[in-house]
Amino acid sequence: MKGNTGVIAHINLDSAAVDLLNYPEEIYARFIGGSGMAAKLYSDWADLSLDPLSPEAPLIFMDGPLAGARLSGASRICAAARSPLTGTFADSSCGGYFAPALKRQGFDGIMITGKAASPSYLLIREGKITVEDAGDLWGKGNYETSAILKERFGRSSTGLSIGPAGENRVPFACILNDGHHAFGRCGLGAVMGSKNIKAVVIAEQGKVELNFADEKRLKELAKAVTPKIRESIISQVLHDFGSAGNLEGHIYSGDVPIKNWQSNFNEEMGEALTGSTLSEKYLTRKKSCAYCVVACKGMVKVDEGPFSIPESPGPEYESVAAFGTMLNTSDLAAVCKANYLCNDLGMDTISAGSTIAWAMEAWERGDLAAEKTGGIALEWGDMDAVVNVLLPAIAAREGELGEFLAKGSALAAKELGRNSMEYTTHSKGLEAPMHDPRGGGHGHALAYAVSPRGACHVATAMHFMETGACNYPEIGFEFDLEAMTHEKKPETMVLAAALGAIENSASFCQYADRSFTIEEMVEFINAAAGYDLTIEGLMEAGTRIFHLKRCINYHLGFRAGDDILTPRMLEPARDGEPAGIEIRFDEMKSRFYSLMQMDPERGVATEKRLRELDLSEEAKKIWGDR
Ligand code: SF4
Repeated sequence: MKGNTGVIAHINLDSAAVDLLNYPEEIYARFIGGSGMAAKLYSDWADLSLDPLSPEAPLIFMDGPLAGARLSGASRICAAARSPLTGTFADSSCGGYFAPALKRQGFDGIMITGKAASPSYLLIREGKITVEDAGDLWGKGNYETSAILKERFGRSSTGLSIGPAGENRVPFACILNDGHHAFGRCGLGAVMGSKNIKAVVIAEQGKVELNFADEKRLKELAKAVTPKIRESIISQVLHDFGSAGNLEGHIYSGDVPIKNWQSNFNEEMGEALTGSTLSEKYLTRKKSCAYCVVACKGMVKVDEGPFSIPESPGPEYESVAAFGTMLNTSDLAAVCKANYLCNDLGMDTISAGSTIAWAMEAWERGDLAAEKTGGIALEWGDMDAVVNVLLPAIAAREGELGEFLAKGSALAAKELGRNSMEYTTHSKGLEAPMHDPRGGGHGHALAYAVSPRGACHVATAMHFMETGACNYPEIGFEFDLEAMTHEKKPETMVLAAALGAIENSASFCQYADRSFTIEEMVEFINAAAGYDLTIEGLMEAGTRIFHLKRCINYHLGFRAGDDILTPRMLEPARDGEPAGIEIRFDEMKSRFYSLMQMDPERGVATEKRLRELDLSEEAKKIWGDR
């Protein structure tokens, strides 16, 4: 096999046995790698009746075919499991250094089932995987864990770890690579914690030769696209100011949710929280993922004041908004501290910030009373309470308030009642990212609702397509899109769903690959894996992966009726650019279903469509033998 090693290690923690799974090349070609292959593995192996945190439920890490290629943005890795937050099939993508290192150990992926008898870590060295004692690491934050493992195994080692939140099974706990890069969403850190696995460490760079189909062509292609990536405006803004580089601009368009989506405009916050302010005040140096020329990741340091932090990975756009605008504060140092704590404790900043923002509104309305908060006032913008009380309590699930907020906003609102669900901001239980469809673009509303894992802006390419960051005439995407209308959004979403699945399966970074044409994506995958994919074939593979995930969710109990947004997300904006404009959500959803040949009740593709996409087994399971 080319590009891939053809080997996926299955570690059963109950027996510490490691089996090697060899999927045929034809399966790799149909599901590309990364998220697509993880969905295929999950569908083949998981008992879908299991609770997400039951020992037998699989946790999968899966590389793409280009992992290890010297190409910017091609070394991401996917993690997948059933989410303890949403109950859906969930995948999450992470940059950093783990993907190429895993392949150099001879594995395309690893699947973990069972539960270690005591806190443990997996050690991958010289192509062997062993289960090691992690008694001394349990209870430690991600930064210290990562530092200890680097000290133990050397600077060329790389590791994935969870913090206390994962150990305590907070349903939005995340997994970090080298204490920096995050598998942020859907609580996969809790799944790792439920298996008593603190970390997965690759001890050295590994000796397995990467075996790309056409190394020469791959180098030529990389040489041709690298200047395009480096010189693109997106890359330059990302490099200079990080992903929050355009936060101020987004505030003016009404894209950034403020005060739990009550407002869409605040000039002062835009200026105080935007990426250039972050760079000017706190940036110390830039970092990168493997082989990437963009180097968008900033290290920050806050020297003094109540929110001082040592040099550490700085907040991305999502974290700045989740702890800044959402909590109604302009205090950037406090945002940096909240981000620092979430990384160390191992929690998704979007879910944590959104849950706290919802709780602050519940407090303001009198829905959440002092008896439930242990007497703690949840005032807007009280960042002392956020960093000193709320985040530590949530990660530890400590006290009634910590336990309550650790459920995430959807379950907490269900428990609280009093119509508090109406002002949550989620789909399928996953808190929405920091792009408000009312100002950012109505297509986001559709993307959030139909994304298999819940409200997500990276499962599809809608965010970039709707905001005009890319144009793909080769797949018919030449629409002149207006952000604040429903027009052409279902048609765009058909392409965006396939493209997002391709990006997450080929393990491309959605920033760096904005400079690729679809033809270049095809050429990269073919040069790496030796396929003879066409543009149509690649788009079909993306569509297949989208539908496979929807089929898995069907078996997990999800239907078309779950593809919804909360009332707060669909009420007309109260201020800013989008004030008063309605989102025609039902119309978009029904048109999308029709274009995708999806059943309007079951929420999955018709039997005919599944068979056309080579998902006959799924067609049979859902529609029966006909
Ligand atoms: S653009 Fe940024 S996130 Fe993407 S691969 Fe490069 S450094 Fe990593």
